[in-house]
Amino acid sequence: MDVYPSLTDVVGNTPLVRFNRVTGAAPAPVYGKLEYVNPGGSVKDRIALSMVEGAEAAGLLRPGGTVVEGTSGNTGVGLAMVAAQRGYRCVFAIPDKSSAEKIAVLRAYGAEVVVCPGDVPREHPAHVHSVAARLAVEIPGAWLADQYDNPANPRAHYRGTGPEIWRQTDGRITHLVAGIGTGGTITGTGEYLKEASGGRVTVVGADPEASVYSGGDGGPYHVESIGHFRHPETVEDTWPRSYHPEVVDRFERISDRDSLLTARRLAREEGLLVGGSAGTAVAAALRVAAALTPEDLVVVLLPDSGRNYLSKVFDDGWLGQLGLLEEEVPG
Ligand code: PMP
Repeated sequence: MDVYPSLTDVVGNTPLVRFNRVTGAAPAPVYGKLEYVNPGGSVKDRIALSMVEGAEAAGLLRPGGTVVEGTSGNTGVGLAMVAAQRGYRCVFAIPDKSSAEKIAVLRAYGAEVVVCPGDVPREHPAHVHSVAARLAVEIPGAWLADQYDNPANPRAHYRGTGPEIWRQTDGRITHLVAGIGTGGTITGTGEYLKEASGGRVTVVGADPEASVYSGGDGGPYHVESIGHFRHPETVEDTWPRSYHPEVVDRFERISDRDSLLTARRLAREEGLLVGGSAGTAVAAALRVAAALTPEDLVVVLLPDSGRNYLSKVFDDGWLGQLGLLEEEVPG
C-alpha cells in the first residue's frame, strides 16, 4: 500500500514549482516552494511538529497536557493539528488584526482562542505574548510553544526545508528569498543552504517597507505575519531569538501595494492562490531575478494559501479602502 502511518508524516517535502508567467523577461528562473501543500495549510506545520516533539522529548509536554501559544494563526493551526493527533488541549492568544478565517479555523480544530488587542505595546498585559505567557503559568500541565524564541523553530527548517531545496534543485540554487516573521524559516533554511553550498547561496529577506528588520520605522502595514512592527510606546524592542540577522545578505523592501497586488497576480497568472506574505516574497524574488543571469536559480518560499485571506487580499472592497485597487483595471 502507498500510505502514510499518520498525518504528521505528511508534513514537509513540499513541491518546488517554476513560475512561467509572472517572471516576464527576468533572465533567471524562479521557483516557488509551495508550503500551503502541508496538511495544516502552511509552512508552520513544520515547526509545530518540531516544537511539540522537542517538548515531549524534554518532558515539558506530557499526556493530557495543554499547548499554549501566541500566534497570528498558522502556527496555531499546525499546533492544533498535531495536538488533535496526540490528545493535547490547545489554548491560543491571537491578535485582533488576524483574519476572521484564521480564527475560525483554529476553533474548528477544537482550539480555544483568546483574541487580544493588536494596538498595545509589547509590555502591556493584554499583548498577545503577555497573555500567552500568563496562560502557560495559570493552566496546569501547560507548555508554551514560544515560536519566537524556541530553537526547534529554525531547526525544523535547517533539517527539513533547507535540505529539501538543496536536493530538489540538485544543488543549483543561487538565491533564497523569504519573508521574516519569527525568522525561523529564513534562519534555518538559509543557514543550511549556505553551509551546503560553501557560502555560494545568497539569502534575501523580503520585508514590508515599514518593518524594523530592514531599517523601517516600524509603522503599521497590511501584510500579515511578516516584518517587525514597533508600537510607538514600546520601550525595549526585542527581536525573536529564532531570527539570526547575520544569515540575511540583503533585503528587498516591498510596499503593501506590491505585496498585495503580486499575491493577486499569482492567482490569476500562475494559478497559485497564496497569501499576502507570499506576495511580498515573490515581489522581492522578481526584483532579484531581473538582475541575474540564466545560470542563476532563485527559490522563493510561499508560506500559506490565499484562502486564509479571502476577506482581505482577495476582496476588492478591502483593497479599495486602502486605495490599492486602481492599478488593477482588466486588460
Ligand atoms: N508568512 C506567513 C503567512 C506566516 O504565517 C509566517 C509565520 N509567522 C511567515 C510568513 C514568516 O515565517 P517565519 O516566522 O518563519 O519567519
